Amino acid sequence: MKSWYPEDVLTFCPSCGTRGFEPSDRTQQPIMHLHCSSCGFGLFINAAASVVVLIEKQPGLLLMTRRLKEPEQGTLDLPGGFIDPGERAEDAAAREVFEECGLRVRDLKLQNRTYCNQYRYGGLTYYTLDLVFTCSAENWDELSEDGNEVETLLIQKEHINPSDVGFVSVRNIVLDYLQGRIFTCGLGET
Ligand SMILES: [Zn+2]
Repeated sequence: MKSWYPEDVLTFCPSCGTRGFEPSDRTQQPIMHLHCSSCGFGLFINAAASVVVLIEKQPGLLLMTRRLKEPEQGTLDLPGGFIDPGERAEDAAAREVFEECGLRVRDLKLQNRTYCNQYRYGGLTYYTLDLVFTCSAENWDELSEDGNEVETLLIQKEHINPSDVGFVSVRNIVLDYLQGRIFTCGLGET
């Protein structure tokens, strides 16, 4: 798969259109800033904030998704996605769970670990920073089985194979969940 790093894709200045839009410091890894030598326009390559949500229906029974589209089509994932500009992380978590799974969430709790990922989509790589929430669902009867982007699955902890998870950050979240580093107390049906 192509890397699609910003410095390889954004080679024309978005402001004046001339070629020569280049890393300000080529020794940085990853590149953090691109700069136009003609007009002075600059662009920071920031982390894109996203949310990942852990929801258990019962203790040890985790809601996961299977990705129906690229990137990482066919692999296991967790509900979540990018935080919109101006949106709070907790609102993004509730929105993504509803959009992907049809569930209304309650008792959202932000966990004290964050995870990095590279998300390659539409010809560009985004450096994501994933915030993890745990929550419960208002009504499991509202769980949708298959949608446009993902299908949903309930998997018992013992049957989850982290190597079936496509995204590195989500794989690490699942590993931390399986090994008890993300606290699941208070989860499940109430
Ligand atoms: Zn320029």
